[in-house]
Parts: sequence; C-alpha cells; structure tokens
Amino acid sequence: MVLERLRRGAPGREAKKIPDGLWVKCPGCAKTVFKRLVEERLDTCPECNHHFPMPGSRRIQNLIDEGTWTEFDADMTSGDPLGFVDSKPYLDRIVQQMAKTGLKDAVICGTGKLAGLGVGIGVMDFSFNGGSMGSVVGEKLTRMIERATAAKQAAIIVSTSGGARMQEGALSLMQMAKTSAALGRHAQAKLPYISVLTNPTMAGVMASYASLGDVIIAEPKALIGFTGPRVIKETIKQELPEGFQTSEFLFQHGQLDLICTRQDLRAELARILRYLMAR
Ligand SMILES: [Zn+2]
Repeated sequence: MVLERLRRGAPGREAKKIPDGLWVKCPGCAKTVFKRLVEERLDTCPECNHHFPMPGSRRIQNLIDEGTWTEFDADMTSGDPLGFVDSKPYLDRIVQQMAKTGLKDAVICGTGKLAGLGVGIGVMDFSFNGGSMGSVVGEKLTRMIERATAAKQAAIIVSTSGGARMQEGALSLMQMAKTSAALGRHAQAKLPYISVLTNPTMAGVMASYASLGDVIIAEPKALIGFTGPRVIKETIKQELPEGFQTSEFLFQHGQLDLICTRQDLRAELARILRYLMAR
C-alpha cells in the first residue's frame, strides 16, 4: 500500500521532501498520520479513532442531506454592549476571529433534512473564540429552536464550547436562560430536542442547552463538565475520581444516553428521530 509505505517512510524517500501539512500528529495515540486519511474519516484518527476538532460547516455537510440546507441569521454579528477592553478591545478581537475563521460567530444555525427528516440544527465551532457563548450564539440558537417549534420539527444542537463569553459579562449568562426557555416551549409542544456533546463542552453551555436534551449523545473521550478539576477540588475539598469529566465516565454515571463515534452519528440521529417523531 502506497499510503502504508508513505506513513512508514518508504525507502529512498527522504522525510524532508514531504510537503508541510500532509501529516498530522494525533494527540490520541501520538502517531503521525496522513492528513487526507484523517479528513476522509470525518476528522478522526485512522490508528486510534481520536476525534479531532471538526469545523461546523463540515459537520453540517456530514449531517444534512445535500441540497436541503437553509442557513438562518448568517449575518448576525456581535455588538460591544460593555465597551469591553482586556488585552485588546472586544470588537477588535471579534474582527480578528472573523478573519481567522471566515465565520461571523461561534455557531451556525439553520434547517435541513437529516436522512429525509426535517430538523432545525445549530452547530457550534470551537475555532471561533473557543466556541464561547455570547449574545449572538444565544440569539441564533433561540431563533433556530423557535423556528423548529413553529415548523413542528425536532431540534438538534451540536455543542463545543469553553463556556460563556466573558467579554459580554452578564449578557452572556442571560443566554443560558433564554435558550433554556426556548427549549422548554419546544418540549411543551411535544417536540424532541437532541443534544450532541463534542470535545470540549464546558461551563455555561453545559449548564444550559447542552445538558437539556431529551436524548444526550456525546462523541468518545470528549471533555465535558462545568469547571476545571482544580476549582472543583478546592471548592468541595474532596479528591476527584480519575477521568470524571469524560464522555465515558458521564455515560457510566447516567448523565449521557449514548456515546457515538462521529462516523455513526448521522445514522444514530436518524434512528432516534424516526422513533421520537413517529406519530
Ligand atoms: Zn490516533
């Protein structure tokens, strides 16, 4: 196999001749793996199935049937309600993030069909400011949920986030209540909401919509929690069990319904949606 030989380093071929960016070192198994193989496997490692971060647009491409996608509120951008300045002004930071990622904020929302079933879906993108939840993320998700309720469709949110966006202060925290209220009304309309947790899903996001799914699915070995282990340890003054903020630990303790590899996610979502949406 050519790829196998490339990976091992074929005889007569010097490693330095291989162009940059062809290979990627896997944080899961520490092996150097062929980047194209990783991409073909939906950004997972061919050796150990480590799940690399996945851009939101690629997730939508993978989950939503071709030609059925309509994006909502694509041009919504952040204001600077507090005039916040840390190492740089907040809006400069936002402009920088936009240029880096080509995104307007940390979530993409819209509607489309998943295996033929109409859904409202929001997908977070960690590359935009650590997937932090500010007013734009909260508002776009709330509108997506409200539209799904009105259209009598299931709602899905794929989360990845470090938590609330501190540069918007309490306005970021209010998004927790707003999104949760919209999900409450969605539930009152007897419509399902599926939450998909990916690495990492933390803090204010985990403490609101990410943990409110009728069904909660996580990708393997994702970091999921509220705050870091050191802060918890200092607060409760107890030793914490090994790996307590991983998908596997939370699944064993009943916080998750399912751990699902990225390759199987679309089929699992379709199976669950067909069951929940059956009249
Ligand atoms: Zn690996």
